[in-house]
Amino acid sequence: MATKYDAIVIGTGQAGPSLAVRLAGAGMNVAIIERKRFGGTCVNNGCIPTKTLIASARAAHVARRASDYGVMIPGPIAVDMKKVKARKDALVRQSSEGVEKWLKTTQNLTVIEGHARFANAHQVRVGNELLEAERIFINVGGRASIPSLRGIDQVSYLDNSTMMDVDFLPEHLIIIGGSYVGLEFAQMYRRFGSEVIVVEMAPRLIKREDEDVSENIKTILEAEGIKIRLNAECIGFEQRGDKVVVQVECSSGDKTVIGSHLLLAVGRVPNTTDLGLEQAGIEVNEDSYIQVDDQLHTNVPGIYALGDCNGRGAFTHTAYNDYEIVAANLLDSDHRRVSDRITAYALYIDPPLGRAGMTEAAVRKSGRKAMIGKRPMTQVGRAREKGETDGFMKILVDAETKKIVGASLLGIECDEVIHSLLDVMYADAPYTVIQRAMHIHPTVTELIPTMLGELKPLE
Ligand SMILES: Cc1cc2nc3c(=O)[nH]c(=O)nc-3n(C[C@H](O)[C@H](O)[C@H](O)COP(=O)(O)OP(=O)(O)OC[C@H]3O[C@@H](n4cnc5c(N)ncnc54)[C@H](O)[C@@H]3O)c2cc1C
Repeated sequence: MATKYDAIVIGTGQAGPSLAVRLAGAGMNVAIIERKRFGGTCVNNGCIPTKTLIASARAAHVARRASDYGVMIPGPIAVDMKKVKARKDALVRQSSEGVEKWLKTTQNLTVIEGHARFANAHQVRVGNELLEAERIFINVGGRASIPSLRGIDQVSYLDNSTMMDVDFLPEHLIIIGGSYVGLEFAQMYRRFGSEVIVVEMAPRLIKREDEDVSENIKTILEAEGIKIRLNAECIGFEQRGDKVVVQVECSSGDKTVIGSHLLLAVGRVPNTTDLGLEQAGIEVNEDSYIQVDDQLHTNVPGIYALGDCNGRGAFTHTAYNDYEIVAANLLDSDHRRVSDRITAYALYIDPPLGRAGMTEAAVRKSGRKAMIGKRPMTQVGRAREKGETDGFMKILVDAETKKIVGASLLGIECDEVIHSLLDVMYADAPYTVIQRAMHIHPTVTELIPTMLGELKPLE
């Protein structure tokens, strides 16, 4: 006999808990299922722990640079990795327990712990329990992809989840993957004191970004002593005693890289292959992402997919926005859509990259007439005062509509500064609105109007 609910939510990541609580608050009898730790990737193995660790790494970095500011710290700077991890664990525990308590104390909401699998389009099995509902919301997220590279099964490796257990300093960390996750760990561990090499198959780092962004980030990381091996097109692994040997065997550069520890940061895969989707007839694409429409319905009536598992976003804010879209449509008669949102994210190296809308390459490809403004951070007073002048800011504007179409801001505070542009983009206002705004001095954001006053045609 199945236990009947009005709605079932699978996963307690970044969309599921808010949705479950909202539905329960609307009077529905709701069940939410979690197989591991409450809060999902962001809380336990993603955003929160990495940004907490990055804060420790930055403290070490600033301490090492203290004399640049006239602050003398006698003796070398030491990092206590056990304390670093304990600080991270405390924050993660607080967040995860907060989600768990919130769910378990919400009226009309039943929390079930275990692995959920569809039995059919209306029923989900968790262990011996069978649950039934007309509406089912899938929020199962993703995990690190482990590529089938030569010798991978013969070496021990870390991924973003197992990195969270590290409470020691790896002597020499090899990171496979020069994209968002890999680069954050690279700078973090270099600052903790490890030797770090990033091995990337492509000819440049984070190849989804513009070339000037990739180049600048490479320069920033290399200046901190991180080694970067690009064009590593034929990666293979071998364990030699307590060392990991990575063969790169490519046309140029060293043929092998030897380190003490290996981190795989080569992308993510959705948690959809052990969910019984076929029992419910739910369609996935060739990469196993659940197919959804603009309001996050799957092909099966009553079943929705939210967050990373639908392939329409790969961030906490996109997962949360999915919740808002579903709730608005179901409960508020507000027909919000995924296609209403503007691309936005940050890369949390130091200085951070804040991104909104199109890249310069995408603008050029679109063939539209555009204008560009670019300014190195060396010409930003606030950055000079802080002694952190790496990076540049770049804004692209449609020459006809005068609307901002994209921005790449790489520099101190740029994960925050980007929002001044993003909000004007959401307001659908011309760039002249922000150009005429009076910003506060001295800030990084005060240079945005100046940059917009210096736009040039995109040649
Ligand atoms: C190292 C790293 C750093 C990141 N940093 C950032 C950042 O700074 N900013 C940002 O926006 N994003 C960041 N992300 C991405 C962000 O973590 C994800 O986009 C976000 O967590 C996705 O949320 P979600 O709700 O889709 O799924 P998740 O958070 O992955 O949650 C899914 C939940 O479902 C559960 N589950 C899965 N299958 C089942 C099942 N069959 N039965 C029951 N439960 C199940 C899982 O245990 C999990 O708790 C980072 C990711 C990583 C890996």
